[in-house]
Amino acid sequence: MTYSSSLPGLRHLWVERLLERHAGTLTELVDGLGSPLHLVCPQVFHANVEAFQHSFTQAQVRGSVLFAKKANKANCFIQACAQCAIGVDVASVGELQKALAGGVAGTDIGVSGPRKSDQLLGLGLSHQCLLAVDSLEELLRIQQLALSLRQRARLLLRYCPSSQAHSRFGLNPRECDQALVFCRQHAANLDLQGFSFHLGGYDTAQRAQVASHLVDLCRASELDNCRTVNLGGGFAVRYVDPAQWQAFLAEDCAERYHNDKGFAGFYPYGALRAGAEALDDILATPVSPGLSLAQKVIEHGVRLIIEPGRALLDQAGISVFRVQGVKDRTASDGYAQVTVQGSSFNLSEQWFNSEFLPDPLLLPASPRPRSPFVACIGGATCLESDMLTWRKVAFDYPIQAGDLLIYLNTAGYQMDSNESPFHEAPLPHKVVLELRNPHLRWKLDSLA
Ligand SMILES: *Cc1c(COP(=O)(O)O)cnc(C)c1O
Repeated sequence: MTYSSSLPGLRHLWVERLLERHAGTLTELVDGLGSPLHLVCPQVFHANVEAFQHSFTQAQVRGSVLFAKKANKANCFIQACAQCAIGVDVASVGELQKALAGGVAGTDIGVSGPRKSDQLLGLGLSHQCLLAVDSLEELLRIQQLALSLRQRARLLLRYCPSSQAHSRFGLNPRECDQALVFCRQHAANLDLQGFSFHLGGYDTAQRAQVASHLVDLCRASELDNCRTVNLGGGFAVRYVDPAQWQAFLAEDCAERYHNDKGFAGFYPYGALRAGAEALDDILATPVSPGLSLAQKVIEHGVRLIIEPGRALLDQAGISVFRVQGVKDRTASDGYAQVTVQGSSFNLSEQWFNSEFLPDPLLLPASPRPRSPFVACIGGATCLESDMLTWRKVAFDYPIQAGDLLIYLNTAGYQMDSNESPFHEAPLPHKVVLELRNPHLRWKLDSLA
């Protein structure tokens, strides 16, 4: 008995077009630039931005979108942010430099992250970025730096709700009160504009409740400028059909994976409400009898910020791997072991002790008869645990050396979060694609 499974990834129209009409170009790109190759499509990013903005407009809420830069390192997405006049959320000097260099105004940049260095805070102050304060100690340093740089710091207090009491990030309710007092005392250097939070998980009602509480804190602050609530990120992405996802989970077992690996948990790949739909839900959540969050926010003249990372990158990239070889153990084990040029560092879900589950697509290098073929996918390194796909995936054709395997929807965190030059492998290139029917234009991702 072979425990193969399939879980087809949802495919955007640009991916369909690419595979139908430009498969030759795709192969040439991998020939020329190497495997793996990440392909990114800023056009899709633009559309995702518009969907979130539309959600704010529909609810008549003043809202801004910041792209959480850590979700992908490509320059093209920062350039897209500058083009559609949205901001960027950064958490390091390098990210802040890239955002500025890409054309994003300092006032549109949010700086988050724990225990920020003086260098990051100083750069943020000089460019009038919106700083999310992580601790009282940090607030004190910001006040001193602002004084010496003759700046007035634009601040949000990052709030850590009691539901996330174990979190490493933000100020607990008591620390938040102390920070407020301090901001009032040092109003000459500290311009407190509101509060922020960023929750783990994807619960929309929970986000609405915390946001509502922070609207109350804004009002109670007695500071004129304290009218912004930043909801952070965590807008789910739908990678597969929700019904197929439920069926997949119901039948999940260790035997489905190479070496009976099994996993304790997965990203919610089949989210019922995703992206801007999740924002619609947050805004429509009742936060007191007869009052939605949107209505409360409007009533109190509060502005919202969201910081989606993954959700702005939904369908905005794919990763292509060349098959290096196949060890066909179908007769003894019931499945084959495929090795691709690349490693699991190019598909970063192992960070979470988990696996990126949507099926990779097979692009055979030569025509061959259809016949069922079950395989797991490993990387070309000397580590047993370097598996891109532990799952025994059911393919429609036998896999051969030279074929391409395409992992779909990888732009959000999958493609480059964990990449390293392990085994002296060069870091993969990113190719920026633009599809203008019937033409395909491509260029290497660059700062210019
Ligand atoms: C990581 C992060 C985000 C983005 O989260 P997504 O799940 O990618 O939407 C937003 N804000 C902060 C503060 C973060 O740390």
